[in-house]
Amino acid sequence: MRKTPRGKRKQKTKQTITRTVTHIRLNEANPGKLEALDALASAFLALCQQYVTHFCTEADPNKYAAPLFETPLSERWHRVAIQQAAGIAQSWHTNRAKAYEAYLEELADFEEVQASPHPDPTRKRPTWKEWSTPKLHVPVVQANANVVVLEPSEDSTFDYWLRISTLEKGHPLRVPVRLSSYHQQALASHTINTSTTLHKRKGVWWLTLSFDEDVPLHTDPSASTVGVDVGIANFLTTSTGQQYGSFHGKLRQRQKRDREKRRRKAKLRACLKKKGVKTLPSTSSASSQRLACHVRQSINSAVNQMLAAHPDARIVYEDLSVASMRFKARSMNAYLSASNLAHIPEQLAWATAKRGVEAHTVKAAYSSQECHRCSYPDRANRPDQQTFCCVVCGHRDHADHNAAANLAQRFGDNELAACKNKAEVKALLLRRHAAWKKHHRLAVVQPPVQLGLFETSTDVG
Ligand SMILES: [Zn+2]
Repeated sequence: MRKTPRGKRKQKTKQTITRTVTHIRLNEANPGKLEALDALASAFLALCQQYVTHFCTEADPNKYAAPLFETPLSERWHRVAIQQAAGIAQSWHTNRAKAYEAYLEELADFEEVQASPHPDPTRKRPTWKEWSTPKLHVPVVQANANVVVLEPSEDSTFDYWLRISTLEKGHPLRVPVRLSSYHQQALASHTINTSTTLHKRKGVWWLTLSFDEDVPLHTDPSASTVGVDVGIANFLTTSTGQQYGSFHGKLRQRQKRDREKRRRKAKLRACLKKKGVKTLPSTSSASSQRLACHVRQSINSAVNQMLAAHPDARIVYEDLSVASMRFKARSMNAYLSASNLAHIPEQLAWATAKRGVEAHTVKAAYSSQECHRCSYPDRANRPDQQTFCCVVCGHRDHADHNAAANLAQRFGDNELAACKNKAEVKALLLRRHAAWKKHHRLAVVQPPVQLGLFETSTDVG
């Protein structure tokens, strides 16, 4: 069996998570104050938009970039706008790069299939549509203590004052903040972070506060490693052979109904448009929003169940992007929103951090095509969506379980982690397969029944 060197890791004893307290309504301020806040926000939004476009098209995102554009805002506010824009542009660049990489992989996969003895005539050639730069619509201000300070209120009418520096130098705006008992409870005995977020939605200003919390890490260094494969047929499949949550069944029925409804609406819209009707009914529906919410809840509950069943284990899952989730979704369900699926890795990260459970992501490349027994990576190992059957050694397993076992094994596999791209991963797996073959030369020429001797244990701890 292959041995993977395990690098010495610095043992962490705790991790810091940031909890946010959202939806604190700023409704105690008088109209004059809110007008001043509106004026500030509109100047801020305009400036921030200029930098976002600049950082997406002309320069690399840089929080410390020298000011470039004219603005009525103070120097401090100008810096906050540059920082916020750099953050937005950075994630735009990262997401675009990941999506483009996923597209190239999909294209390479498409060409491999079409050049193989069994081309798929129903499959469409993937196309790339260039991303447009972000447009800021909702006024959001991520402020720091240089421009917005939360001060405890001295009298009992309010909990805090929000001191906001404005367009008028030396005339800060003081907005009263009254916390609901829910918010008070959430913030009790915590030190509130100095960064604050203000945003306006439907004419109302909202404040978001946050605090850091140290969560002791309780996973033992000798804990067993559980690999988790993320999918649609099963949201989570563990290397221990358990499955949690599914998009099939009821969820899929609901989604089908929702799609039909949207189609009918779109038809009606097209029909009315032809007839020259000016105000058209919207195609977005409350039911699809409820469905998205329901999908998220189902994902959360699957993650909770999985963690409850493996309380002492170390969790290892795929490093997935929204773009790669979209391609994962393609074959199963082209209509499922990729952003809903991307909630699975997000929830895995959050739920483990909250519980002090050690969690790691590993490279996903070929994890679903690699044979867990002999390392041979080939799409032909997947005769259908659910089945894994190695064309070399005959190893047979549920496809998701084989993938989960591979992911668990990739934890601490420094050689694989060092691979720079998919091609390097494939080359490494082929080298390991060659080594396996050399070691088990006899087994390959013997009838498959003998191969049972080499059954790999899924207990990879
Ligand atoms: Zn094999």
